[in-house]
Amino acid sequence: MKKITVIGAGLVGATSVYSMMLKEIADEIALVDIDDKRSNAEVWDIRHGFPEISKTIVKKGTYQDCADSDVIVITAGVARKVGESRNDLLIKNSKIMEGICTEIKNTNTNAIVVVVSNPVDVLANHAAKFLDLPKGRVFGTGCTLDTSRMVALLAEKLNKPASSINAPVVGEHGDEQIVLWDEVTIDGKPANFTEEEKKQLAEDVKRAGMTIIEGKGKTYYGIATTVCAIASAVLLDRPMKYAVSVPNQNEEKALSMLCTIAKDGIIEEFPYK
Ligand code: NAD
Repeated sequence: MKKITVIGAGLVGATSVYSMMLKEIADEIALVDIDDKRSNAEVWDIRHGFPEISKTIVKKGTYQDCADSDVIVITAGVARKVGESRNDLLIKNSKIMEGICTEIKNTNTNAIVVVVSNPVDVLANHAAKFLDLPKGRVFGTGCTLDTSRMVALLAEKLNKPASSINAPVVGEHGDEQIVLWDEVTIDGKPANFTEEEKKQLAEDVKRAGMTIIEGKGKTYYGIATTVCAIASAVLLDRPMKYAVSVPNQNEEKALSMLCTIAKDGIIEEFPYK
């Protein structure tokens, strides 16, 4: 049986559960939150979907569900408001992360742990240190979302299907992110942008999260399908190259680089120069 536990039943957690349920990548998904009423409500709402849509069972969970989970996704914590940076969430979310990791560790799980809560790079580093699981089993979603944002932007600009575009973004999930322009391809061919266009595109991707927050208060659909893609690579053991944040205990934060993700988490890293 394939099982996922999602910690945090907020918009990011619930939408991640919803997208993973639709994709049927696990037999069971447990949703855990300190707010019982909220997790109950989200589970009910998702379970009330049309029966033939998915065979995946979604249930309200407890930390004990982590024990036999293949993947644990941590989305608990406060989210940014208009004008806030991801780093503004650090103090509050570090405390929350510490508490959650203590609970997870007590279950002796050997799951792959995917950190989503922000600031994701710092919190992925904290979680890896706390959980002390074998290398590659704890990491952050990092710049996987920024990469899909860049692909979406280019698809729209060039009027091309997203599937024809490769446009990796690495480094920080924040202002210090880097577009690997030498690796950007459209229909398998190198991209041809002026320096001015590159600068604008990179800026638009950096600003994308806040632009969405200014428009509707929160971001969740993009990250939910990002979580689903990462969890699929693990659960279906279909190796995929994603720009996830790789914990490094010699640094204050994990940074994203392209990595191959499969059943055992990060199985190969491709550091950028
Ligand atoms: P939200 O406020 O809707 O939900 C947060 C949930 O966490 C709440 O249900 C709350 O009860 C729960 N929670 C708080 N403390 C908890 C604890 N100790 N144990 C269990 N649950 C706890 O927030 P959201 O919009 O779902 O965002 C969640 C996080 O995801 C934020 O930190 C946000 O910044 C982050 N995020 C990350 C990315 C990314 O690319 N990495 C993208 C979007 C959002």
